[in-house]
Amino acid sequence: MIPYGRQEVTQADIDAVVQVLHSDFLTQGPIGPRFEDTVAQHVGARHAVAMNSATSALHIACLALGLGPGDWLWTSPITFVASANCGLYCGAQVDFVDIDPQTYNMSVERLEEKLAEAQKSGTLPKLIIPVHLCGQPCDMAGIHALSQRYGFRIIEDASHAIGGKYKGEPIGNGQYSDITVFSFHPVKIITTGEGGLATTNNAQLAERMTLLRSHGITRDPTRMTHVPHGGWYYQQIDLGFNYRMTEIQAALGLSQMARLDEYVARRHALARDYKIKLAALPVTTPWQHPDGYSGLHLYVIRLQLERTNRSHREVFDTLRENGIGVNVHYIPVHTQPYYERLGFKLGDFPESERYYAEAISLPMYSGLTGDQQDVVVSTLERALAI
Ligand SMILES: *Cc1c(COP(=O)(O)O)cnc(C)c1O
Repeated sequence: MIPYGRQEVTQADIDAVVQVLHSDFLTQGPIGPRFEDTVAQHVGARHAVAMNSATSALHIACLALGLGPGDWLWTSPITFVASANCGLYCGAQVDFVDIDPQTYNMSVERLEEKLAEAQKSGTLPKLIIPVHLCGQPCDMAGIHALSQRYGFRIIEDASHAIGGKYKGEPIGNGQYSDITVFSFHPVKIITTGEGGLATTNNAQLAERMTLLRSHGITRDPTRMTHVPHGGWYYQQIDLGFNYRMTEIQAALGLSQMARLDEYVARRHALARDYKIKLAALPVTTPWQHPDGYSGLHLYVIRLQLERTNRSHREVFDTLRENGIGVNVHYIPVHTQPYYERLGFKLGDFPESERYYAEAISLPMYSGLTGDQQDVVVSTLERALAI
């Protein structure tokens, strides 16, 4: 099986992890902060807070920005469920903004319309989570301008986008948002096994996320309600969680960071080759906005169903039966049964639903060879054959 995504683990990664296993600290040691500093420096952010997943990072980022009951969070329907669930964890209500038909990211036009309506009904969102789908950056300048007008905060879900750039600057530098979240799940661009990280330029947000990641406990006397009882003393000053990243994970991530730019460049080379190899097939290859340099976590094609008499399902099944581990990213979140119970229904976000009916993620990862790519393309050609 040629999977749609796959981690690459080198001997250097293994050595780094083994070194941690022989060391004094398996968690809360010196490697975590080194990993955080390395990511912060790479993306041009002042602070980085590593956690055990991007889902945890999204949750804590929402809390740090004060999201709670009575508030609204808006995101894209075409994302992993975690981008929306984080709002529900905080007791907020969640709504969606339909996608742009070319980039598949949150449409700034739809966002502007929806904000104007929400203003009239007094239901403006407190927080918006744009998702850089497949690694392609959203129109952050447009979203940021609207945030100034309507007063919402922004968390970028950059789970797909580490190593990418927007208007020539690294994603995660916080120029257009309060917090940016990255994922290090093994299918993503670099991995820590499981893991996530939030970047911000705001020292208070970083401090708050650091507190909430570890039970809301502080050892900083200046933050305590009275003088410490002794050297053992700590205080719980808020209700937090155990969302810490281990040293084992951080060591893997730190070692992988050294190859990040190389990985993204390799993904771009594969995308260029796909575009050429797929040119004659009835599929739409991903459009890249000139403002962005995508992390290219995913390579999503859309079937031109009017040009083939195979269905989306038939093409998908034929690929899978022939050893191509394709996938579909994503099932529109508002059509999930849990969200249907909250009142959403099919038809609410037509552009997202159209996308879902045609999208297939082809294999895209740094270890994919040209020969494997040829097998993917020829299998797809057969699967589409009339
Ligand atoms: C993978 C992913 C997440 C969740 O990441 P985890 O690290 O697995 O928690 C969130 N949002 C998007 C868009 C993702 O792709």
